Amino acid sequence: MARSRALSPETLVVAAGRPERKPDAPLSVPITPASTFVAGGELEYGRFGNPTWAAFEDAVGALEGGRAVMYSSGMAAASAALSLVADGGAVVVPRHSYNGTLGLLAEAERRGRISVRAVDVTQPDALAAAAEGAAMVWIESPTNPALEVVDIAQVAAAARTRGALVVVDNTFATPLVQQPLALGADVVVHSATKLLAGHSDALAGVVVVADDATYGLLESYRRMHGAVPGSLEAYLATRGLRTLAVRFEKAQDNARRLVDALNAHPAVGAVGYPGFGTIVTFEPTGGAAAAHRVATSSRLVVPTTSLGGVESTWERRRRWAGEPETIPEALIRMSVGIEGYDDLWADVEAALGSA
Ligand SMILES: *Cc1c(COP(=O)(O)O)cnc(C)c1O
Repeated sequence: MARSRALSPETLVVAAGRPERKPDAPLSVPITPASTFVAGGELEYGRFGNPTWAAFEDAVGALEGGRAVMYSSGMAAASAALSLVADGGAVVVPRHSYNGTLGLLAEAERRGRISVRAVDVTQPDALAAAAEGAAMVWIESPTNPALEVVDIAQVAAAARTRGALVVVDNTFATPLVQQPLALGADVVVHSATKLLAGHSDALAGVVVVADDATYGLLESYRRMHGAVPGSLEAYLATRGLRTLAVRFEKAQDNARRLVDALNAHPAVGAVGYPGFGTIVTFEPTGGAAAAHRVATSSRLVVPTTSLGGVESTWERRRRWAGEPETIPEALIRMSVGIEGYDDLWADVEAALGSA
């Protein structure tokens, strides 16, 4: 559906990806469980397309300013994006990226398909140097979980002059904060499981690109590799997306207030927050054991991996073997939800008491 880019993101999350407005049409695209479609049309088979995926794709495409392809998970979306690198290509990646992405790249490198150049994204010159001769520059901004922020326009310009494709994992910032294609990136990847769907009840991923040739490659990757979302998940993701702007605003407000309170708490050392968004990190002063006690003694904040849901969640990241060793042992990554702030802080404060 063609929608004017002049509409604000807050409006697009509500208005884009709706059925054609005509008498008795439903306001939301329904769930279409179908493994196959009657021959002679555009869909043909359930692995090739589905109207419920298309609703989500239209909405995210409008938000990111490109054409979207939905996948069964964020990792399926990341795999599809990585397939754009020809065999033997070099991929530049932030050393503190999401550990699933690092694992995917490391495995491709072990098999000799690509080579990986991990960089410290707080050093723009090092990043530009690493882009020399690379096939792809992969960016996360903010990075997960170090929350480092990258100047996407600057990196995209540097990568482009060197002929590298620029991918931005926009999971943490969402198109409400930044639209990487407009900043010069070629490909946007999302774990829609997180903020876009927003309710911790569906796995989904999406890739958005501006040019039709790359769109064709990504769409045919989905057909061939079969990383297709279910229609229920596509419905839930679209349903969740409708409230992204209000969820984000409330969670961000909670996050900012929590950051101030954490900074003032005697049992907390470093606090990480890029100044926007819904993800906060902090390190209890008592080290990894204290962090473990904090992360497992809350009553409201849910101890779990994943993030971006309406409910506040947290975990000590280094409990995962795949987490980079440059992430501090005591670091707790908290995904701030939309609960009442006073209840949230009372819970966090009580949990800090256990440290
Ligand atoms: C969770 C996440 C992914 C992977 O997404 P899944 O939906 O879990 O497959 C990719 N990138 C980032 C930044 C994530 O947080």
